[in-house]
Parts: sequence; structure tokens; C-alpha cells
Amino acid sequence: MRLLLSSIIIFAIAFSDAQPVQAGWKAGIAKAVITPKQPMWMAGYGSRTGPAEGTEHDLYVRVLALEDETGHRGIVLASDTLGIPQRMYDELGKQLKQKYGLDRSQFVLHGSHTHCGPVLQNALYDAYPLDAAQIELIDKYSNWLTTEIVMTIGRAIQDLKPATVSRGQGTTDFAVNRRTNREPDVPMLREQNLLFGPVDHTVPVLAVHGVDGTLRAVVFAYACHNTTLSYMKWCGDYAGFAQLNLESSHPGAVALFCMGCGADQNPLPRRTVELAEAYGKRLSSSVETVLSEKMEPIKPALRTTHEFVSLRMQELPDTAELQTIANGPPDYRQRWAARMLKRTTKPTGPEEYPYPVTAWKLGTDQIWITLGGEVVVDYSLRLKSEFGERTWTTAYSNDVMAYIPSLRVLREGGYEGQSSMMIYGLPTERWSEEIEERIVATVGKCVRRIQADQ
Ligand SMILES: [Zn+2]
Repeated sequence: MRLLLSSIIIFAIAFSDAQPVQAGWKAGIAKAVITPKQPMWMAGYGSRTGPAEGTEHDLYVRVLALEDETGHRGIVLASDTLGIPQRMYDELGKQLKQKYGLDRSQFVLHGSHTHCGPVLQNALYDAYPLDAAQIELIDKYSNWLTTEIVMTIGRAIQDLKPATVSRGQGTTDFAVNRRTNREPDVPMLREQNLLFGPVDHTVPVLAVHGVDGTLRAVVFAYACHNTTLSYMKWCGDYAGFAQLNLESSHPGAVALFCMGCGADQNPLPRRTVELAEAYGKRLSSSVETVLSEKMEPIKPALRTTHEFVSLRMQELPDTAELQTIANGPPDYRQRWAARMLKRTTKPTGPEEYPYPVTAWKLGTDQIWITLGGEVVVDYSLRLKSEFGERTWTTAYSNDVMAYIPSLRVLREGGYEGQSSMMIYGLPTERWSEEIEERIVATVGKCVRRIQADQ
């Protein structure tokens, strides 16, 4: 036995001498407070009549920088915002390339979709009756936020140090399909187990530990509108509470919430701070359960890819119809139609929008797809069925330009399928019916690329 043991030790020493030291993952973290200091308009609801009036808790951007054993980097950003609009995404793309050599495949910029965050540059302007002074404040704040995001990403890169990365998955069920369950009926339907319609109640969790075993970052996702609250205070809503809960139980760590495909899902019932706190607690408890169990280690390999897919829009209503809407009551429909009538350059064919798709592979088989816009849950369920149950799909990332309905939801119509297009201000009332196939085909192309042998 002793002989066997010493042979093993000799073999182990010889083996370790012959092998290069395992490089492993490196990870860096950073966060910054982004609560506006001026009384700005809040994003997401067209019914507000003035700027924010106080702060429930601070808003943040939080960053995790990952580097695999070959030195390839990926940046995850979580922000307590409605979503990053196209102009900021493009500017950030330029600056992140210039300053840190990152291409668009190497960063994913998530908005938590809180409706208690600030209006950002050129995003949903038709939704709010903004005056010139407010637009100037929004421009200034958005430029400041862009710089702050670049600097926070820079600090996370500077913080890169050896780490381990692991995965797990939890669940919580406060998300309700809002298209198929009337809000006032939800408590009764829940009680009777009669809630209806597609949902995705999984809570994907990515944990990053330092070499001493302490938690440094936890990334988690959930497919549910972050809209418990509609009041006049800055607040990260349930996702904000969940992030703060995790950070207070793991001092020194950052907790990053990424919205899943929750465009047709609401946290119901809602509208009180107590409920937002309760949903935050349920989500953070689900993450804590995953962290306390044995998680699956992920090998230090990161592959990243990115594509823009051109999404076609259906044609605008004709001038007479636009004129009728523009003459209507002063709401987002009226402001949108008036703006469409003033357009000086008219397109000659169908208009298209460059829609961002990013796909990462962590280790040997953890696929993580990030999509732009407000994506309905059908995508998350379909992509799991196409690429495996462990596929993660997060949305509200990079460029939040509109709702992204599946073909089913587009044909059914309603807010997510049609009428939300006007509030976002794109020159159309509807996406074309090719939308789902175009997005899924592009995701497929990206997934095949990251799965291919190098
Ligand atoms: Zn929304």
C-alpha cells in the first residue's frame, strides 16, 4: 500500500512537471451608481406626468469581465435601465473597440427593464410629452452614462484575476403570462391552479468564485417584466431588490440580473413596494439555493459570435389614416403619427432594422444567446427545444428597439404583437411575418459557428 501510494505521488509529481500550469479562467468585477442627480423623466410608462420625485434605492451598472485560458474576453453588463437604445449601443461599440479591443461579440449590455429608471437618448420619445429642456437633460445623462459604462468595464478588466466559473439553474414562479390571464383574476387563478399560457420559470445562474472560494460574481436571469412598480421613485424594481439581497449576503460580490424573454410576462399581482421586495426575495432565494448546492464547473473556454439580422417592417398606414391618428387626442399614437407625417425622406421599399444577436459558448456546452428588444417567451422555449434544455436566452440587451413577437403573437396582435410598435417610434405598425424565422435562423448560424471545431 505504501509502495503504491509513493508511486502515485511520484507519478503525480512527474505528471505535473510535464504539464504547463492550468491557466484557467480570470474574472474581474466592477459596479457604479447611475442614479440621476437631476429630476429627470422616468422610462417605460406613457402615463406619467412629470419627472422622478425621489429614490427608493440607487440604480447601478454592474460588470463582470471574463477571460478564458487563451486570453479571449467577454463582458457582461447588467444595468438598472429600461434598456440600452441603439445610439448608445453603437457609441459603446466604438469606444469599447477603441479602448479595450473588444468587438461586438465580446460584450452583452443588459437592461433590467425597470420602469423606475431614467429615459435614455432617443428611446421612446413619443411615449412622453418631453420639452426641449428635458431632452437636453436626457442627452447629457445618456452621454454621462455611456462614459460611466466604458469606465466601469475598464475597471472590471483591470480587476481580472484567477477564478472558477460554474453553472446551475433554479426556478421561481411569480411570472404570469399577461396575454392569457387578466391581471385582476390572477390571485384567484393562481389559487385554483388555473394560470394559463406559455411561461419560462427557470432561473439560470452563473457563479464566479475567487481562488480562495469566495463568491465574486453571480449572473442570474428571469423571464418576467421588471414592472411591479409604476411610482415616481428611482428603483431597480424586483430585479434591483434581488441584486441588492445577493450583494448583502455575499459582501464584495456583484450580482448581475439579465432579463430573459419576458415581454409577455408580468409579476402579478403588482404595484406595491412590498410586492417588488417579495418578488426580489423569491428570485434571490432561488439563486441562493443554486449557489448552496453543487454547481457544475465550466471549463475555461469562451467562444463568442455576433450577427445583425435585418428585420423587415410592414408598411406604414397611408397618409389619410396617419392624418386621422395625428388629429386624435395628445398621446403616443398622436405624437408618432404626426412625426411619421413630417418625415421628409420616404422609403422606396419595405424598411428594415439591424437586429443584434450574440451567442456565447462557455466551456464545452453552455450556450448563452442574447437578443435585442423586448422578446416574448416563445423564443426562449423554442431555442431550448432547438439547441437543448440547458440553453440560456436573455433579451433586452444591446439595443432595445421594440417588442419582438413570435409569429404566433404577431398574428394574434394585441400590445406585444402590434400596438407597442408605435410607442417605440419605429416607422411601422408591425414587423413582417418573417420575424421569428429570421431571428431563429440567425441564432442557428451563430450557435453552429461557436460549436464548430476550431
Ligand atoms: Zn416592456
